[in-house]
Amino acid sequence: MEMHADALHISRYPFLAAASNYIKESGVTLDDLITAAAFERARLRGKERVHEALKEGTVRKPVIMSTAQAEVELLSYPFARILVSCIGDERLVRRYALSEAKSAYEKLKEDSSTGSSSDTDIINELSREFGIRVDFVRLPHGQEREQVQLPFVDYLRFTSTLRDKRWKLVNRGLEKGWVKLRRGEFLRIIQEAIYERIKRDLPLNVPKALCESLSSYTEDIREELEVLRRKYDDGGFESSAGFRVRDPRCFPPCIAAILGNLRDGVNVPHTARFAVTAFLLNIGLTGDEIIEIYKNAPDFDEERTRYQVEHIAGDKGSVRYTAPSCDTMRTYGNCINSDETCEKISHPLSYYKLKLKMRSTK
Ligand code: SF4
Repeated sequence: MEMHADALHISRYPFLAAASNYIKESGVTLDDLITAAAFERARLRGKERVHEALKEGTVRKPVIMSTAQAEVELLSYPFARILVSCIGDERLVRRYALSEAKSAYEKLKEDSSTGSSSDTDIINELSREFGIRVDFVRLPHGQEREQVQLPFVDYLRFTSTLRDKRWKLVNRGLEKGWVKLRRGEFLRIIQEAIYERIKRDLPLNVPKALCESLSSYTEDIREELEVLRRKYDDGGFESSAGFRVRDPRCFPPCIAAILGNLRDGVNVPHTARFAVTAFLLNIGLTGDEIIEIYKNAPDFDEERTRYQVEHIAGDKGSVRYTAPSCDTMRTYGNCINSDETCEKISHPLSYYKLKLKMRSTK
């Protein structure tokens, strides 16, 4: 069967206005999507999208071989949004929107680096969709597609939530109201725009009776959400993925200080990163959750961070590292803000355990 090119394209970017137009023109109603047996595959894939967001922090892009398959993928997106809305959990909304945005960003990187003239088409299409004016800068040596410029108002619109120092306007060259960026950086800005678009209307106002009729789809998601909540929801520190890490009020002052620096986009030395990563792994955070915390680091590079976190976790066949002792922390200048509890322990993990015990006794 010949594949409808539009269907394939918009199934990859289902948040585009063209995607809702495609669905409208196809004649599929909301009622069909929710009740018709013919759309059960789309509903199951919609549920899977939310599961993937919760478990993996991203939404898989399956290989699509036919228009029918592309349409299932496309229709699964509005259904996933309905499920997320019925559950109505604010953190799930953020996690889901972030996962969809990351997945679209990965696809965008792929689609815009084929080495053909269509590389700029997709960037232009998404820029138009989000009302961002963008120009490809002409450079010598055939690198003209590697740099873009955009008006600073558009730049500010999508970078105000990025904590990394390199996004601050003062750290950028501003010329006659235009900001120059490497193409990769611009794609990161598009990811922000996608995130805002996906999150914009969530949760949707879905009637209660309709949500009840979808309980067979939402039940597992609620359970999974509860498991995650129990795992991380002991305190008041929220990772950017929207989940809480174990009681941060009990973190030793050194770890709290390093995490604070990472959150504020301060450049943290390698030894401090190692200490905080090993500490968080030891108290049960997953590699993905730790990578989320590093996202604000000024030189964040997801691939390199993942490699390092997995290495410390022992996932690459190496030994799993434990967090450094207080002596080692002192040696590297990472013992910061020590307090009276520090006098009773010799290891940051012992500090944490002791504080947890003290709190539960209280
Ligand atoms: S004494 Fe140990 S636990 Fe306390 S701040 Fe220093 S390194 Fe951290």
